[in-house]
Amino acid sequence: MEFNLKDQDVIVVGGAGYIGSHVCKMIADCGGRPITFDNLSCGHAHAVKWGPLEQVDVRDTPALCAAFERWPAIKTVVHLASSIEVGIGETQPAEFYENNVLGALSLLNAMRKAGADRLIFSSTCATYGERDTMPIREADPQLPFSVYGKTKLAIEHMIQSYHKAYGLNYVTLRYFNASGADGSGEIGEEHDPETHLIPIALMAAAGKRGPLTLFGMDYDTPDGTCVRDYIHVNDIARAHLMAMEKFSGGLANAQINIGTGKGYSNLEILEMIEAVTGLKVPYTKGPRRDGDLTELYAHCGHAKAVLGFTPTHSDLENIIKSAWGFHKRVWGL
Ligand code: UDP
Repeated sequence: MEFNLKDQDVIVVGGAGYIGSHVCKMIADCGGRPITFDNLSCGHAHAVKWGPLEQVDVRDTPALCAAFERWPAIKTVVHLASSIEVGIGETQPAEFYENNVLGALSLLNAMRKAGADRLIFSSTCATYGERDTMPIREADPQLPFSVYGKTKLAIEHMIQSYHKAYGLNYVTLRYFNASGADGSGEIGEEHDPETHLIPIALMAAAGKRGPLTLFGMDYDTPDGTCVRDYIHVNDIARAHLMAMEKFSGGLANAQINIGTGKGYSNLEILEMIEAVTGLKVPYTKGPRRDGDLTELYAHCGHAKAVLGFTPTHSDLENIIKSAWGFHKRVWGL
């Protein structure tokens, strides 16, 4: 195993979700125990396999404080629970600000009360906004375009204030596009509704839904479709475990991009899906989706320097193969 978390308990808020379940599995695989805090509004009870589940809503501070009291010795919290669908955020901002910003504030206050002073927060490349140059560095301006990005940036600021005033130790991981699935086939991407490109394209290829709508083919990119940096969910999980190790080494505050440094266009993704599955991905051309940025890919130097992180699972073919393996199992193909 790459990490040793022997006998370490970690609270994973949102541990029943896509990224959360992969973080939980890796914690357990490395000898630790994940305690999932999740209201199961988006996550799945069947994805909580590696430790106990506290069914609690992050916005409910008294219930959250009571859950922390049941785990008094735990110092480290991973926070992944949030509303994530960029398009939905544009039409339902109230829900996004409430779930994400108020939820995080409630969690920070419950952590303070409980004396849990180490936080790994799942932020996003969507906090940066539209830019003329790539790759994106952590110190670049954060001018988010989407409601989703704005909520995550507000949380980043709250966390920095809690670090300065109350001594919270934190690592904020700004993920690029989480994708793929664990090789066990036990867990994978299961959003409802599903809004992400790779699972939707796999569904369309397998005849599990109608054609994919490609949102905008008139962007200023080589083939006219948006460019994104796809990072395997197990690489994201590895970054969390590296951050946990660095807390022990004295790391107290950091903002770190978690990506591969390489961008693929939406059409390139469809091509790889066709190569891996041997199936055509039917699609139609649609208008741009509100909140979408033209191009996003990471500068990865800080992740390497601070965490020692480089991706090891994120070859695009491996990402698609692992996602396809998971969905084939779920669909009984
Ligand atoms: N996309 C698309 N059709 C879909 C879903 C996504 O064309 O049904 C595009 C989306 O507009 C973006 C890219 O795929 O350009 C990646 O979107 P996704 O929602 O997977 O991740 P995001 O980058 O928004 O986090």
